[in-house]
Amino acid sequence: MSKANIIDGKALALSLRASIAEAVAELTDKHQLVPGLAVVIIGDDPASQVYVRSKRKSTEKAGMASFAHTLPGSTSQQELLDLIAGLNADPAVHGILVQLPLPEHIDESTVICAIEPAKDVDGFHPMNAGLLATGQPALAPCTPVGSVMLARQAARNLSGLEAVIIGRSNIVGKPLAQLLLRENCTVTLAHSRTRDLAGVARRADLLVAAVGRPEMVKGDWVKPGAVVIDVGINRIATDDGGTRLVGDVDFGEAVQVAGAITPVPGGVGPMTIACLLRNTVQAACAIAGVEMPKL
Ligand code: NAP
Repeated sequence: MSKANIIDGKALALSLRASIAEAVAELTDKHQLVPGLAVVIIGDDPASQVYVRSKRKSTEKAGMASFAHTLPGSTSQQELLDLIAGLNADPAVHGILVQLPLPEHIDESTVICAIEPAKDVDGFHPMNAGLLATGQPALAPCTPVGSVMLARQAARNLSGLEAVIIGRSNIVGKPLAQLLLRENCTVTLAHSRTRDLAGVARRADLLVAAVGRPEMVKGDWVKPGAVVIDVGINRIATDDGGTRLVGDVDFGEAVQVAGAITPVPGGVGPMTIACLLRNTVQAACAIAGVEMPKL
């Protein structure tokens, strides 16, 4: 059996970031509009610190303004809400991202709802979720947007495909289902109570795994020739005492069966940050009333 094409998320993200940088230069030049992204991080979770550093570097590299707010883990919910209110009112800030997870004493939903929907570049605000679900222009969550772009790389026309998404979270599975409906896929959302998960997965022309369980999706869950998008990022221990990143798909098995597949790392991950920058440009254009350059 021939091996699947590997969908190169790193290369696609690089080319998207180059187009974003061009768009930002054009907006700055023609409209004196410098898209600005504020990233708020609370506490000292090492993984979150790494994500935030990388978001900041990418934002600046694209020619955009970056505002970092690093708050101690003891920050109260009210202090965070006050900061968000300030960012909502700041005309230099077009996108606001509060890095999750938050410390236990802060209610995630209250914080997400406090972000001005027009600046909600994570696309988590119920207003944006509702706009997306009703097929209206919205800021859509970055990982699902990136996943659709990767699927399009492999299948060009997604219309009519049987798509199965394993995972129904608000940040990945549900918004991805909405985006794939827009692409005219026939969408199934599977989850922990799905009966015969392997059988459901095997129906998919486009199979997306967003579960958070290392290498759960085996080769015999994959329909021959299917496009497989692996959203999972799991750090597992190796025999030599180190760690490595793996997805939710058993890559070694699935690559023998699929038509195309994303690797981990180097698949969905790099697209998430590129789509965050794209959302910030989209938000800046909408707020300024300027036409969004094609990205
Ligand atoms: P989540 O909120 O924990 O949701 C996991 C989903 O998987 C839930 O819907 C759950 O079902 C389902 N699930 C759990 N165990 C299952 C099982 N044994 N069989 C079938 N379904 C099962 O996770 P998430 O935030 O969506 O993230 C999912 C994965 O994507 C994680 O590995 C995360 O690190 C990764 N991720 C990557 C990026 C990126 O940039 N690449 C971004 C976000 C997330 P129930 O609803 O029934 O509990």
